[in-house]
Amino acid sequence: MGNEVCTAVLYSSEPPSSAQEARFVSFIKEKYGESVSFVWKQSDKYEGGFRLVVGGDVYDWSNEGRLEQFKERLRSLSGKNENIISLIRENIENWEPETLPHEIGTVLTVGDGIAAVSGLENATYGEILLFNNGIRGMVLDLTEDEVGCILFDDDEEISEGSIVRRTGKTAGVPVGQGFIGRVVNALGVAIDGEGDIAPDGYREIEHPAPSIIERQPVNRPMETGLISIDSMFPIGRGQRELIIGDRQTGKTAIALDTIVNQKGKDVICVYVAIGQKASSVAQLVNNLKKRGAMDYTVVVNASASDAAPAQYIAPYAGTAIAEYFMEKGKDVLIVYDDLSKHAIAYRSLSLLLDRSPGREAYPGDVFYLHSRLLERSAHLSDEMGGGSLTALPIVETQAGDVSAYIPTNIISITDGQIFLESNLFFSGQRPAVNVGLSVSRVGGDAQTKAMKKAVGALRLDLAQYREMQVFTQFSSDLDETTRSLLKYGQGLMRLLRQPQFNPYSQHEQVIILVTAMAHMFQNIAPTDIEGKVKGLLQYFKENEMALCGRIDSTGKLEPEDREEILEAAKKFFAQN
Ligand code: ATP
Ligand code: MG
Repeated sequence: MGNEVCTAVLYSSEPPSSAQEARFVSFIKEKYGESVSFVWKQSDKYEGGFRLVVGGDVYDWSNEGRLEQFKERLRSLSGKNENIISLIRENIENWEPETLPHEIGTVLTVGDGIAAVSGLENATYGEILLFNNGIRGMVLDLTEDEVGCILFDDDEEISEGSIVRRTGKTAGVPVGQGFIGRVVNALGVAIDGEGDIAPDGYREIEHPAPSIIERQPVNRPMETGLISIDSMFPIGRGQRELIIGDRQTGKTAIALDTIVNQKGKDVICVYVAIGQKASSVAQLVNNLKKRGAMDYTVVVNASASDAAPAQYIAPYAGTAIAEYFMEKGKDVLIVYDDLSKHAIAYRSLSLLLDRSPGREAYPGDVFYLHSRLLERSAHLSDEMGGGSLTALPIVETQAGDVSAYIPTNIISITDGQIFLESNLFFSGQRPAVNVGLSVSRVGGDAQTKAMKKAVGALRLDLAQYREMQVFTQFSSDLDETTRSLLKYGQGLMRLLRQPQFNPYSQHEQVIILVTAMAHMFQNIAPTDIEGKVKGLLQYFKENEMALCGRIDSTGKLEPEDREEILEAAKKFFAQN
């Protein structure tokens, strides 16, 4: 468009009659001047009508185009009290060709949930396109003479030559309070069979991340309820902590426990399932329901049977839903389970769109894919309402290889990682956190004073234990000190074991840590430790209510509190 128009092309299956041709020619002359020449081309695409293309303008006299125009008028009428019958009559009698209000293009190829479209010179990246029958797609690839677009609905009704319209809108999802407790698909449509959700608004799925001045430092804890994480790798509200490990190492379990632990803490949770079996997600939702955790949780599900486009947009859609709550001043936790499958979905899309493959056949912008997603986690400043979005992305590794492409990318984007190990998992050490390779970079500031004091040198002690374990592996006779240190380390590892759906509150973690660091479990057989911990916590619940309440409410551990814990624990161990 904008160029000098020199030819007007008329497409139809049969040549126009001379009367029709005269009408077209005079129409063109009037609109575009004398210099435009007129040609006719045979095409079977516009059955029962004509399509006239002059430069970038398209006039659609095909049956399909007329119908579309008619539908558009009906839509603009809906709500007004006009007579539809008279509109129909009027449309049939005095149908006048008009330029289509939108730029329109034609489908060149379609398949695998992807369509290549020509003729949309002004389409923008991420714009929503409208195909016939209301099928929607999103622009993901722009080349000189065509745009590549992913389809959100079944592509069966689209064929080569189908008409495509620009909408000028970017992709978005409905958001709102009504989403809490629901399971939706990547487009925000309910899939739990409990009826439609009335949204409070609409939000673009690709929203710019909050700027630096809109943020404040991470300074409040997001407790997982898992002692192995809260003690050594504390997570703060607004932080991004990666959960990484091979398949079946308890990755989902950690995220799930964290969600369950938010009960009664005024946190909204969003769980985004990407490329999982529908049955596993159903089971997960059941688990959350059973524990009352669906009361504050939204599940976004793009399962393995959904097309790659749905899997690709699911985490962005989930984030949009989460941001709605964050901007209302709420603390929100979002889980992306998992981003390896997300990258794979994006890779298939990119390969289908003919993008050149890079390392491990992923397209060059796969880093940007995840960085723009995780950038959106934040702790907003008080002026912005003080809400937060904490992200727990999950990544699956192959044979523990953290140096593969996607793992290294995401490790570098996040503020730390919880590394889970198959060996530990199978030896019964669950959660299978590898203490040496896990780290949390910003959460320390968010840890309560009580936890900081209680945890002492736990990490150091465990590191020492691991080293000694390696050294003493093959030696048979050990001196007394070494043996007791090994036993101490073994006991600590035992204490870090925790069954699923059994979160510890803050005071419980503090009690376990203080007594453990004082070597009080030293003389207990490893197999008895679990039972003893249960008994100890029960004892405190019965006899030390005030102390427990004080730790939970103040988040502090005064020296006299520590003495009280040790005194009470001594009494317990003497009795049991
Ligand atoms: P996948 O790779 O299939 O997604 P995953 O790494 O997410 O697996 P989970 O599904 O969380 O692993 O856990 C695998 C199995 O281990 C599940 O049956 C789960 O119930 C069990 N499990 C996880 N954590 C614990 C735990 N702390 N105690 C006991 N069992 C656990
Ligand atoms: Mg999982």
